[in-house]
Amino acid sequence: MSAATPVVTASGSAASGIPPIDCPSWCTDPGHVAEYCREDQICYSYDTYVTASLEEVEVTPHGVCESQIGAMACRGFNKRPVVLVHVIGFRDGIDVGANLTAAEARQLAEYLTAAADLICEGAER
Ligand SMILES: [Zn+2]
Repeated sequence: MSAATPVVTASGSAASGIPPIDCPSWCTDPGHVAEYCREDQICYSYDTYVTASLEEVEVTPHGVCESQIGAMACRGFNKRPVVLVHVIGFRDGIDVGANLTAAEARQLAEYLTAAADLICEGAER
């Protein structure tokens, strides 16, 4: 059997992982050998989410789900790294991601800080 021949069990699942990839230092799953295909070998950094306390919440049998906005480094297989901004909102059932370049992410961070400074200044009056 050659290295390129997939090993498949009777159940149809892979008997072992696929060849590892070279991951950036910030990847939380180096190599991604437990994935079943290349398109699933996506590198993510640790994510950081902010709970949007002024947004809608959803009550489920498992508890209260709060709206959140997160950011993380991300790189799809054979793609350039991006900053992924992930928005989960329960007002309109939003679950979207946006890919930003590093420069765009820094610009957004600057604009968020400037807007936050404005409302903090307004609260002090
Ligand atoms: Zn990775």
